[in-house]
Amino acid sequence: MSAARAFPVRVRAFAGESPESYFRRLCEANAVTERDAWLVLRHQDPALWYEVGCPLGARYVAALGGLPDDFFTSVIGLAGAAGGESMGIAARAARREPSPPAPLCRRCARGEVVLALAPSGPICLRHRRWVAHDIDTRQLPRHNSAQRCLNGTLRGRGIGYRSSAIAATREALRRVKGERLPARKDAVVPLEVEISEFPDVVRLTALLTSDAMVRLLLNDELGTATRGIAIAYVAHVFLAGHGAADAIAAIRTAGREMSLGRGIPVIGPYTRVADLPDFASAITGSNDGIRTRLLRFLQTSENRRLHTPASRHASDSETARVR
Ligand SMILES: [Zn+2]
Repeated sequence: MSAARAFPVRVRAFAGESPESYFRRLCEANAVTERDAWLVLRHQDPALWYEVGCPLGARYVAALGGLPDDFFTSVIGLAGAAGGESMGIAARAARREPSPPAPLCRRCARGEVVLALAPSGPICLRHRRWVAHDIDTRQLPRHNSAQRCLNGTLRGRGIGYRSSAIAATREALRRVKGERLPARKDAVVPLEVEISEFPDVVRLTALLTSDAMVRLLLNDELGTATRGIAIAYVAHVFLAGHGAADAIAAIRTAGREMSLGRGIPVIGPYTRVADLPDFASAITGSNDGIRTRLLRFLQTSENRRLHTPASRHASDSETARVR
């Protein structure tokens, strides 16, 4: 990378801001078009691609703004990552499922339009606003508490608000409630619906991706239908307002069979459909997609290591001893 001289007018970068967002604001402040500024850079360094957000591009953007070289690469967790310089950020983000940049709270951004990478949810807890539509959440304690869960527990698991786990949980909730599902999986959720479902979706995602539940969902001895019933059961208990975490802890498995608790027959490959509880039909083996999408956060190697079932850890240490 050859040196790029900083633009005369400096612009403050916000925490988590995407390089594209910062580049747009920097060019505006300096009265140059993004296209012209980028062409000059590409003329200087042919290794640069058209993508502002590629790792090399992000370093140039930082240099133009007079920021430390690695300002954006550290923001997106790419510092020290190996591989081709020009590969897209999403493809290289090793720590979490890629999520599209989303607007930062207008109050935090002092009135400017700033896009941030991997923000952890729709609410700014500092200003108690639903960011995208500037809705006051001061009277919505369950919403603010769900946002804290996103910032804490779910972020710790690498699960962002726009992740598959959240979408899968939303679908599971709707199925268990017996609501009609949109024809397309990627259909945009209307804002009123998104806001009203938000606390339940987030809290149930935290339950369904907890270690105990993940161990159960990864248990290949249980059939896909049985594991689907486990998801439906947890959603059902959660909606009924009973202790869903306790319900998960009480689930027992033996071979191909699963016992959910008192009053519910043991569920296994030979359980008669007529004996199944009502909620069981909500998520069956035929839409195993819900389980698959719930577990997608395990695809990053770090998350897989953290959430691998305890039995596998035991065999790993045994292997270590043999060596
Ligand atoms: Zn704010």
